Amino acid sequence: MPRFPLLPVQPDKFTLVFLVFLMVVTTAILVGRFAMKNEQTSTDSPSDLVSVSPVPTAPASGAAAAPEKATRYVVKTIDGEATFVDAASRAGLDATATFRVAQALRNMIDFRRDWKEKNRVAFVFDTKGDKASSEDQGRPGMPAAVRVVTDAGEHDIFLYRNLAGKAFYYTKRGDRARGGGFLRYPLDFRRISSQFSQRRFDPVLKRWQPHDGVDFAAPSGTAVHATANGVVTFAGVQTGYGNVIEIRNRPPYSTLFAHLSRFAKGIRIGTRVKRNEVIGYVGATGWATGPHLHYEVQVDDVPKNPLTVSLPPAEPLQGRDLSRFASRSETLEDLL
Ligand SMILES: [Zn+2]
Repeated sequence: MPRFPLLPVQPDKFTLVFLVFLMVVTTAILVGRFAMKNEQTSTDSPSDLVSVSPVPTAPASGAAAAPEKATRYVVKTIDGEATFVDAASRAGLDATATFRVAQALRNMIDFRRDWKEKNRVAFVFDTKGDKASSEDQGRPGMPAAVRVVTDAGEHDIFLYRNLAGKAFYYTKRGDRARGGGFLRYPLDFRRISSQFSQRRFDPVLKRWQPHDGVDFAAPSGTAVHATANGVVTFAGVQTGYGNVIEIRNRPPYSTLFAHLSRFAKGIRIGTRVKRNEVIGYVGATGWATGPHLHYEVQVDDVPKNPLTVSLPPAEPLQGRDLSRFASRSETLEDLL
């Protein structure tokens, strides 16, 4: 038995073998990480835009854990991309995955208006990923969690397979990221020509009064969409508002669209409309100085600022699904 002057205790044969094994495994892990980093820097320039970090699921207990089992989640962080699609493709998402993630984030981010190159996107991939059909959002290649950091803050979505076996993206609170909720904007507009305000000088009436909605300037004839599912409670002419549509959405919400040039086919009192369905077209009927949409969101019949009012989510997780989701999203959130 050889003696080891540097060790406080002289090991027996078994301990010695174990120590050597531990050293070999540690070295293998370190070399593996180094190689991965090198690969990243050689394929991407500038190199700091993508960082890949394998994350151990649990602290390595014993030296027996093989390196590929020790890493379940892979995190990719991207910034400096001109569009979200560029960021997603850089993280390795295919076109389908990119589309589904973008759809899931749509209620939180307006990709055309809010996207800036400095925005940061983090993707967490679950390498264990369960098998699923190609229509299912839980198919391999779909990120388990995504965080987009914009000027407005952090927007997170988490992929969760519910007890019924279907996988969808959910917000941190367990609401379907893209369910029957609200769209923020009812049209593709040029600019906001008048903000919601308790008191503004009305250019037509020439007097101070509240402005109960937002005016979106857009060319005459631009399609106006329902912002949520609902029932038309008014479609006709009102003094001031011109051609106007009122929709009762899920309580306590209702929405109003004014100054329309005309209504879409089939829009009358009692018509059921779906979110994003075209209900009419921009015009300048009633008291309007030019073509625009006057849009109101009312909560319990009180007008709220459509640009900032908190809009209802849809199909929230409940019961056991919610508790399972909470523990999973907590794990994933730590990685973002
Ligand atoms: Zn207005």
